[in-house]
Amino acid sequence: MSDHSLQDTTAPGVERLPLRTPTLPPATHTNSFFVGRRDFYLVEPASPYGPEQVRLHDLIEARQQRGHRLLGVIATHHHPDHIGGATAVCARFGVPLMAHIRTREKLAGKVSVHVLIDEETTDLGAPVGLDLAVLHTPGHAPGHLCLFERSAGWMIVGDMLSSLSSIVIDPDDDGDMDAYITELQRMAALGPTTLLPAHGDPVGDGVARLAAYVAHREAREERVRRAVAAGAETLTAVVVRAYEDTPAWLWPVAAKSARAHLERLRLHRKVTQVGKNTAARWRPMEDER
Ligand SMILES: [Zn+2]
Ligand SMILES: [Zn+2]
Repeated sequence: MSDHSLQDTTAPGVERLPLRTPTLPPATHTNSFFVGRRDFYLVEPASPYGPEQVRLHDLIEARQQRGHRLLGVIATHHHPDHIGGATAVCARFGVPLMAHIRTREKLAGKVSVHVLIDEETTDLGAPVGLDLAVLHTPGHAPGHLCLFERSAGWMIVGDMLSSLSSIVIDPDDDGDMDAYITELQRMAALGPTTLLPAHGDPVGDGVARLAAYVAHREAREERVRRAVAAGAETLTAVVVRAYEDTPAWLWPVAAKSARAHLERLRLHRKVTQVGKNTAARWRPMEDER
């Protein structure tokens, strides 16, 4: 086992390679993954940094020297700490970048997506000897994908969950709290054992962890609802009340998630919005007062 290569024995058929990326603190790395028993995909072509790309490319070459072919590069979603090395690795090895159509739309003019992946028709598993289901899991990002190995029970979960940092749902970047919670529930219902997040170590007890994520979001949303019911009208006022347990330096990030919760509450007819953008005022629905 080398410095930057870790065979996770609880997840057969996948190898984890944490590489340094410009990501959200306290995380400093994004996990890239080799997926396949012989021929393989690279999932999360993440690092934009030259020395990290050299390490990654060396590891790909080492596998190729064992006779395993790199078949393609898969981006779970469009964020810079996930696709920073995509163009370099695809050019270096002459392989396509594969992603969901909503990810291609987000990357238009920046990074070329060559092959579209969708949940209904894409079979990624057969060429790499795995029983892989593609899951389209919007919420954190509109084109977000997870990969579920049905026989072994492991799931690459991208930024749906992190063992290090909190997941930001940013409505200004097409984040959608309602979709996010729905997808977490759907992932849990599939019964994964080991979760492989993009940031941090693998997580065991996948179903319980996903359920805890849903419970955590619902508890926070209830605090947001109560803040509005108690008279907090502006986003700032809602954040001050609903995130009083969170350090103030995190409030700018919390504000994104608070707005995502407010929009979910509006969707579920628990609050209404008067005015738009920075002038938005949030009020309880009449029967919620
Ligand atoms: Zn992300
Ligand atoms: Zn990320």
